[in-house]
Amino acid sequence: VFDTPFFFEGGKVSILDSVLDKLIELHKIDSELNDLRKRCREIPVQMDHISDQLNRAKEKIETTKNIISSNEKRIRSNEKMIESHREQQGKYRAQLFKLKSNREYQALNSEISLLDDKISELETDILEVMEQIDKGNNELGKLTSDLKQQEAIIIAQHQDLEKDLKSEQEALGLREKDRADVQQSVDPEIMSRYDRLVRKHGSAVAEIVTGNCGGCFVRIRPQLSAMARSNDQLVNCEKCGRYLFWTDVSES
Ligand SMILES: [Zn+2]
Repeated sequence: VFDTPFFFEGGKVSILDSVLDKLIELHKIDSELNDLRKRCREIPVQMDHISDQLNRAKEKIETTKNIISSNEKRIRSNEKMIESHREQQGKYRAQLFKLKSNREYQALNSEISLLDDKISELETDILEVMEQIDKGNNELGKLTSDLKQQEAIIIAQHQDLEKDLKSEQEALGLREKDRADVQQSVDPEIMSRYDRLVRKHGSAVAEIVTGNCGGCFVRIRPQLSAMARSNDQLVNCEKCGRYLFWTDVSES
């Protein structure tokens, strides 16, 4: 079927021309499909990346809040301890008057001053922790306002990517339909060879570039080049098997 030339508007157009044209068209569609599929894979990754950014900012705020609240707990527990030390001191002081020996009096007095030291340590700790809480609150304010700004930008970026993804998916669907249409009009044996070549090499069609196969770069024998140039029959590269076609860069 394919070696029967026919004439069209005064010029020689072989049926073969149209087969090769279809293979070249398929080649073009396939390379577009590859790009579209790649984009459809990449966009969700970008979207996740953006969401992660937002989540990390939110996590940082949570961590800062947790540190502040644990510091506040620490202050409350220090205050309770101070209170109980003071109660204990009160009890000791009441006992002081009942003691008879000087030794007992001194021992109890030193207990009281020991509690004074503990109270003073706890008070110092409270002051330090309060300072940390202040720092934490400042940090929290900054993080919150940063997040507020970031969030608007990130949500907009996310929505843009969502739109991109939708349009790429639509384009992919349309192009897949185009491919099916072209594929249907190509002889099944040629088509199956085409698909095998794509699986093996990533492409099934190559132009001849200055006498070499544009796919595997092997030198094409002059007889094959001449055949490809005359377009009388389909010519395959002897090394990689790709369908070869002739263009203005093919001349060696
Ligand atoms: Zn080749």
